[in-house]
Amino acid sequence: MALWTDLASWRGPTANRVPGGMVEIRGLVVHIADGTYEGTISHQRDPSTENSSHFIVSREGDIAQMVDTADKAWTQKAGNGHWLSVECSGFSVGSEHHASHPGWERLTSKQIVAIGRIFAKVHQVCGVPLALTADPSGMGLGHHSMGGPAWGHDKCPGPPIIAQKPDILAAAEQIISPSGPTPAPDLVVRRAAP
Ligand SMILES: [Zn+2]
Repeated sequence: MALWTDLASWRGPTANRVPGGMVEIRGLVVHIADGTYEGTISHQRDPSTENSSHFIVSREGDIAQMVDTADKAWTQKAGNGHWLSVECSGFSVGSEHHASHPGWERLTSKQIVAIGRIFAKVHQVCGVPLALTADPSGMGLGHHSMGGPAWGHDKCPGPPIIAQKPDILAAAEQIISPSGPTPAPDLVVRRAAP
C-alpha cells in the first residue's frame, strides 16, 4: 500500500478500483485523458464512470494520485492488474474538445518532467527497468494502445505522445542519474526515505 505523497497530491479515494488488486507491476502506462486536470479528477471520483488511473498529470506538471499503487485502477482493461497508469491532461486529435485546445494532443515540457518523476519512482520502488516498451508482456514505460483490443483503446494516447516517450525516459534517467551512469550519493541518501 503506497501513496506517493513525495511527488503527488492525494486526490482520492475513488470507488473505481479493486483494493489490493495489483498482481504485479510491469511498468507505467501513459494515457491521454481527453479532459482537463480537475475535470479528470472529478470524472474519476464519480462512481458511475467506472474509470480511474493511479496518477493524473496537469499541463503545468501537477501530479494527483487517485488510486493506491497496491490497488487496481480501471483504465486499460486486461492490463489493469499488471501496470500502473497515468492519465495526462490533454485532448487527442479528433476528440470532441480538441479544436478548442490546440496543441493539447501532445505533452507539455512540464508534463514530460512530471511523468519522468513518476516513472523514476516506479523504477526505484518496483524494480521496473528504465526502458521503453510497446509490448504488454514487456516491462518499462508503455502506452495504452500497445495492448490492442484487450486493453480497450487503440487511439490512446495517440502518435504525438507516443513520440514523446523517449523524452519521458530521458527525464527519468536525469532524475536517477543526473551526472552520468553513477547516481550521486546525496541523491541516493535523500531518496532512501519512503
Ligand atoms: Zn488510455
